Amino acid sequence: MRIAFASSEAFPFAKTGGLGDVVGALPKALENLGCEVKVFVPKYAVIDHAKYDLSYSYAIGEMPIRVDGHVHNTHVFVSKLPHSEVEIYFIDCPHYFNRPDIYTSDSDEDERFILFSKAVIESLQRLQWKPDILHCNDWQTGLIPLYIKDNYNWDTRFFGETASVMTIHNMAYQGRFPKATIRKAEIRKDLFYQNSPVEVWGSVSFLKAGLMYADVINTVSKTYAREITTSDYGAGLEDVLRLRINDFYGIVNGVDYDVWDPKTDKHLLHHYSSEDLAGKLKNKQFLHETMHLKYDAHRPLIGIISRLVYLKGFDLIAESIPELMKFDANWVILGSGEDKYENLFRSLAYVFPGKVSAYIGFNNELSHLIEAASDIFLMPSHFEPCGLNQIYSLKYGTVPIVRKTGGLADTVKDWDEASYHGKDTGTGFSFVDYKPDALISSVKRALECYKYPHVWDKIQQNGMNKNFSWEESGKQYIELYKKARSNRKNNS
Ligand code: ADP
Repeated sequence: MRIAFASSEAFPFAKTGGLGDVVGALPKALENLGCEVKVFVPKYAVIDHAKYDLSYSYAIGEMPIRVDGHVHNTHVFVSKLPHSEVEIYFIDCPHYFNRPDIYTSDSDEDERFILFSKAVIESLQRLQWKPDILHCNDWQTGLIPLYIKDNYNWDTRFFGETASVMTIHNMAYQGRFPKATIRKAEIRKDLFYQNSPVEVWGSVSFLKAGLMYADVINTVSKTYAREITTSDYGAGLEDVLRLRINDFYGIVNGVDYDVWDPKTDKHLLHHYSSEDLAGKLKNKQFLHETMHLKYDAHRPLIGIISRLVYLKGFDLIAESIPELMKFDANWVILGSGEDKYENLFRSLAYVFPGKVSAYIGFNNELSHLIEAASDIFLMPSHFEPCGLNQIYSLKYGTVPIVRKTGGLADTVKDWDEASYHGKDTGTGFSFVDYKPDALISSVKRALECYKYPHVWDKIQQNGMNKNFSWEESGKQYIELYKKARSNRKNNS
């Protein structure tokens, strides 16, 4: 099967969160399962041209792409996803992508991804590489399913059998723009009316377009798939999902163990495995030194790595701070995001020197060290489509404390709950109520267990022995693609 991925992120080239990790890994798993895969991403300024050995695609050449009536001469560069033969194509349009950040709040954010979506389609035509599946990810690529069924449907010879898949990595981001975007994107005017396939509350939504036009849609865990069909989690698009419920699936994300394995992690000085955890303690000591924390091998270290935004549960953490700081534990935080949370952690580090250390910013290497060095990982998300750090934590023997929602509910098994039922199969600690008391008591439970090495060791071993490799989820994606192809055939 031939699969073309369109995404605004792909690790290691450009990443702000989980989407980057998924698109850096799933295509490789699909290749190993016998698929032919190509990936398309924008060529942002942050992408290191020389480091990744990008070469110009003469096969594609110069593509004039029209956005809002202006033609942009667009070029494409190509490289490979590391550890694979998967080709990754970089859509180069400096006018839109030569900016300091991957995402912007500039007034032409819609135009950037209109151009990208058209360029993906036209690159495929120029390459004469006819995909069976066009796999779109999040709002930035939501117009693609609409485009191939509408604006580019003149090319049925090429796209007539191409099915599209729309994956929701986070329902909170819907790509909503004013009505003028209809003109900029060259969407038919008669497609914009109340509750139309592209309209949400008076604005144009790229995600809605994707959800309405794709042959199959999915999200990144089964629990989140259930949650977003309700008004509490659906962010206004729950009715769309209910309408398409027969074509809507949940497939949990996997982990790229080439990148995230404490036995081989290239960012660690001290490697370790479930058979021998000595290296973990050395990482803990090293992190304490580098992050200026007061080291005590027996005092637990609690780690947080996250975008510092409300949906990750930081208001809950903020409310719980006075109690959390009373515990005999050290804290290390890596993240960036909303000012109020950045300032909260900066000031905590100031008020509790030696006990709290915060790195405000994005630092891939440090994220690996924190996973390896911490005893506990805290992720009390308000909602969480899948979440990856709790799964990395399991592999690194870093016991996760999570709120039981979305992918966190599907990947972490509560220790107490499991042992209450006579099974020592728990891998972490979880709580349901989005309330400070519930968070604090989970932390208390974890710290209590930490005092008993034989109990802690069991929880760590349970987590480290779990396998979240992409192979299983890759197989589920292949089934999803088959369903998309049969929908495409039946509906055309
Ligand atoms: P989301 O996609 O909602 O941000 P996920 O848990 O799915 O959340 O994925 C987050 C990914 O981004 C993980 O690989 C995590 O390690 C990484 N990450 C988040 N914040 C930072 C940061 N400040 N520095 C380095 N890596 C980060």
